[in-house]
Amino acid sequence: MNDTSETEFTSKPEALDTKDAPSQVAEHRAMLHAYATASVEDELAIVNPQLEDIYAKILMQIGEDPSRGGLIKTPRRAATALSFLTQGYDQNIKEILNGAIFDEEYDDMIIVKNIEFYSLCEHHILPFFGNCHVGYIPTKKIIGLSKIPRIVDMFARRLQVQERLTDQIARAIDEALQPLGVAVVIEAQHMCMMIRGVEKQNSKTITNVMLGAFRDKDSTRAEFMQSCQST
Ligand SMILES: [Zn+2]
Repeated sequence: MNDTSETEFTSKPEALDTKDAPSQVAEHRAMLHAYATASVEDELAIVNPQLEDIYAKILMQIGEDPSRGGLIKTPRRAATALSFLTQGYDQNIKEILNGAIFDEEYDDMIIVKNIEFYSLCEHHILPFFGNCHVGYIPTKKIIGLSKIPRIVDMFARRLQVQERLTDQIARAIDEALQPLGVAVVIEAQHMCMMIRGVEKQNSKTITNVMLGAFRDKDSTRAEFMQSCQST
């Protein structure tokens, strides 16, 4: 452990005036260096004392000593990590889509594929992760492309089951755009199957939700599925 890891920053140190004395400049430079090398957990720590406390108890329950050197900051880091991985509870679709829906005459299929995501299964609170492919056929309204991965993340960063995650993404896009159809496919690997239970490292779970034209028309669905498979 070094000194800088003890320093906590809430924001980047402010810039100096050019007329400042050399000693101030040196001090400022040291501060900037400490800022740059502080761990992300320290820098972005979302303080949640109750959650930290619970993690300290978990450490004791598994036979560890939370006061051991390597574990002193673990409850805080773990609490920060869990808060990050579940930040989707604090987000909503309105905020994400704010100002990002545009009127367009484009009426062909739009696909954003290979959106990587990380989620936590609600049964074991272990990660499941993989790729999500999203397609839709607009009726005069399109969505800013970067918003689709953000919608995926908003739902992924909650406790989930893959089936519901797939469904929530599809329905959120359907409600926001009222398109001719929406298709969402998720291919994922579940740590709860890989490292415990059946211990199958190579199995993938694939879920899909097809709405509107993707559900009704075989050729539309086939076109989408083919696009997802091609590289
Ligand atoms: Zn699980």
